[in-house]
Amino acid sequence: MACLPTALCFDVEDIVDPQSDDVALWTAEILAEYGLTGSFMLVGERVRQWDRRGRRDVIEALKRHHLAYHTTWHSVPPTTTEICLDKDFAQGMDALWERDRQGWADAERILGRPLLGWARSGSSWAPSLMGLMGRLGRGNAYSYVRLPGHNVCWYANCLGFFSDGIGGFDGTYYDDELFERRLAEARQELDDFLQAPRQGAAWLCFFMCHPTRVTHTEFWDAANFAAGANPPPSEWKPAPRHDPSRVPVMQKNYRHLCELLRADSRLEIVGWGELLRRYDGQRAFASQTEVREIAQRIADERRVLFTDHFTAGEILLLLCRAATDPHERYPRPTVYGPLTTPPPTAASSWNADAVRDAAHAILRAAEGDYLPAAVDVAGQPVGVGTYFVALAEAILGRDRVSGPPDAPYPPEAEGVARDVARALPDWIIHPPGMDLTLLLEQTRLQCWTLKPAWTRDAL
Ligand SMILES: [Zn+2]
Repeated sequence: MACLPTALCFDVEDIVDPQSDDVALWTAEILAEYGLTGSFMLVGERVRQWDRRGRRDVIEALKRHHLAYHTTWHSVPPTTTEICLDKDFAQGMDALWERDRQGWADAERILGRPLLGWARSGSSWAPSLMGLMGRLGRGNAYSYVRLPGHNVCWYANCLGFFSDGIGGFDGTYYDDELFERRLAEARQELDDFLQAPRQGAAWLCFFMCHPTRVTHTEFWDAANFAAGANPPPSEWKPAPRHDPSRVPVMQKNYRHLCELLRADSRLEIVGWGELLRRYDGQRAFASQTEVREIAQRIADERRVLFTDHFTAGEILLLLCRAATDPHERYPRPTVYGPLTTPPPTAASSWNADAVRDAAHAILRAAEGDYLPAAVDVAGQPVGVGTYFVALAEAILGRDRVSGPPDAPYPPEAEGVARDVARALPDWIIHPPGMDLTLLLEQTRLQCWTLKPAWTRDAL
């Protein structure tokens, strides 16, 4: 069996109790003793606190591992999701960066290291988060975007690692019996995980711990920010802690886990940055033959689709180029999905020449980075998904062409939105009753940018 690339992940986030600093330190140090590389997801304000408290020891221990961002304020409202609730994808990217730009810059400066990307905090995610990371040339860990058999996917021009793996050790290290029980379950889960069919880029997220939750009996944020609460910093109170006499037990069990992971020949333990480097390749070109083959598939299936190597958005622009200025091969274009829902189009057929002409308008609109929701064909506004199919038929040489009346995005968008709809409200920090309507529709619309990721040798 091939080795499964595995990242040992840690979320370092307690901005309330300085007592958590030491756990971050020893988890990082012990890991290095075993020759293992961890992936530490760091809250920006926490990094600033280490700087203020003179904890160079913590910073230096973490720098032996791979470092990524875990928001500036984590659970202090507004969270990533809350920021994006009333915004479209483009506005969301700007608003998130507005909120986190300074924290990100401070963390990079204090750590002396570029951050590899953004690991979702709690279940706070938005499509704009992946857009922002893609814009910065970074990745998204614990994303909610996956495809059958693929847990690493491209979405919003960002490499996203679906939240997929094994964890749950947080509250067990302090107690041998709890730890052994969790370990036995995790062994079974790992066997199952390794059996599941997978293709292309893949990862196992082995979640080692939230360091704070190893020594505290509760989460630091549940104690302060549950259900949208936002007390001023003067009222923040630390979560209760286990008796400090348990620390040697915690460390012993943690060492045991490190030892088992190091010895497991089925796993290839690497830092997250190594996976980003390994998986960030994409096809640079599509040949005319390939574009025609894709057009044939679209005409057969009559839906918005993506292939192993091209997103629906990329395919649409390739079709537009083939329709307006045919070449032997085309560089892979990049574009975001539309910002508003493509309108349903009355069942109709068009002259293929009119459909080919409209490709110019799509290409012009895409220069502004986004696909239009609709395009004018012979005086009629046609939804971009309907147009996608009609244009494929035109490229195949048909005289009268048509498309499905209502095809706003690839059908896979519904599955992605379902995962997001299930996950987002399921976090104790989020206020109840968040209206996810707009965010979920933006999630579906960016499925125009969805495709699986691959190792370089499979490109
Ligand atoms: Zn977190």
